[in-house]
Amino acid sequence: MSEKIPQHESTIEIIANLAKRRGFIYPGSELYGGLAGTYDYGPLGFLLKKNIEEAWRASFARKHDNVWEIDPAIMMHPDVWIASGHVGSFSDPLIEHKPSNQRFRVDHLLEEIDVMADEKMAVDEIQKLFDEHFEKLSLPSNKRDEYTDVRQFNMLVESNMGDLAGTAEHPVYLRPETAQGEYVNYKNVLDSMPVKVPFGIFHVGKAFRNEIKPRQFVFRTREFTQMEFQYFTKPDNAEHVYEDWKKKRFAYYTDVLGIPKEKLRMKQHENLVFYAKDAWDIEYKFDFGWKEIEGLHWRGDYDLSQHQKHSGVKLEYIEQTKEGNERYLPHVIECSSGLDRNVFMVLHHAYTVDQVNDEDRVYLNLPYHLAPIKVCVSPLLKNKPELAEKAREVYTALRKDISQVMWDDNGNIGKRYRRADEIGTPHCVVIDFDTLEDDTVTVRDRNTTEQKRVKIDELLTFIKK
Ligand code: ATP
Repeated sequence: MSEKIPQHESTIEIIANLAKRRGFIYPGSELYGGLAGTYDYGPLGFLLKKNIEEAWRASFARKHDNVWEIDPAIMMHPDVWIASGHVGSFSDPLIEHKPSNQRFRVDHLLEEIDVMADEKMAVDEIQKLFDEHFEKLSLPSNKRDEYTDVRQFNMLVESNMGDLAGTAEHPVYLRPETAQGEYVNYKNVLDSMPVKVPFGIFHVGKAFRNEIKPRQFVFRTREFTQMEFQYFTKPDNAEHVYEDWKKKRFAYYTDVLGIPKEKLRMKQHENLVFYAKDAWDIEYKFDFGWKEIEGLHWRGDYDLSQHQKHSGVKLEYIEQTKEGNERYLPHVIECSSGLDRNVFMVLHHAYTVDQVNDEDRVYLNLPYHLAPIKVCVSPLLKNKPELAEKAREVYTALRKDISQVMWDDNGNIGKRYRRADEIGTPHCVVIDFDTLEDDTVTVRDRNTTEQKRVKIDELLTFIKK
């Protein structure tokens, strides 16, 4: 039985260490010394990520009948990024420490000392703040002349796709967000599917940003997965629709992912980009502060009007009303969430330490639907063929109904329980000598460590319950 009140305090180091040791997330290209800002998901991280993605997908697709998922290309026409504004202004303020060639994001340095400076400010404004607070910033040296002036650094990652001669005026970029794939396909979906405004399009896929300083584990990386949803609505209704999505998205994190309200907050943007009508972030309280998990943006008709202007194709919607046809460019309400940040948040919150038999034990208190492995099956003793054979039978039968069942006969039973706890497996099923007599197995509960005898033919119902 668990004896101590479970503690949930986790840190980046604890989670990164557990993630690597237990097959969730490894540093990218580690064999070759690593590639900054990239991570590889291992077998369990992949499953956890897929489960979170599926929960996110279900919260749109299964709850609304006017939304569709698409899978647009990562590489898009260079003009897309000119129209969207990314070529002109997708930048972060950078300074360089000349002797060490280290680069820093000035807005992040200032944020650490509670001075607000964001990417929407002009360079000279940020320069002024940098000079004013220089002494207090966490930098490698306090000699001002060792640093460059602040400059804007564009975060687009370039490719040479299709540019065989190397002479193209604009390169093909790796998309910095998935949303543009949804905007440029708005008309295609409207023309080819039985939809009317309001309707939504969503997509889950990779995005790439040349982050100046990737950091905080998978929180800020150069390659990451976004889950983005765009809802196209009549301008008159946009405010109401926006309020509605804000409520739904917050409830998703508490009700579906199981994050307590106290560890979440809604934060309004103080400094809006010129076209935005309103913008809020859903933030989670990490040990390193409140951080954005999902952005909720009321973008007006900026995206469609920009693509209409740059492509020359009319994107207006024609609504038939009693008074005749009404033409308008729909407003966009965007819900944009980072899958890797969701994975990190879920692990960070699930990490729990209690005490079993006077020893600390670690478990991930993951909801069943997110747990990468639902059941772990093992024979009490590995070297007893009759136990191993019976255990295989139980394992094979469970796998017909539950896709994520793990076989584990490594080490002794105590070690197997610890391993299962650390990866958040809700149930461990053990086959012992009594099983051979009465067809019952031991089922151990991850959170309470309680063990029950359950008949094999009632096992599936027991687990699912
Ligand atoms: P931040 O201010 O933290 O850089 P952002 O406002 O630039 O984030 P958006 O452009 O709104 O982020 O992207 C939507 C979502 O994509 C974010 O809420 C976040 O979850 C995720 N995301 C953005 N940049 C990264 C990154 N470098 N690494 C991992 N996830 C990211």
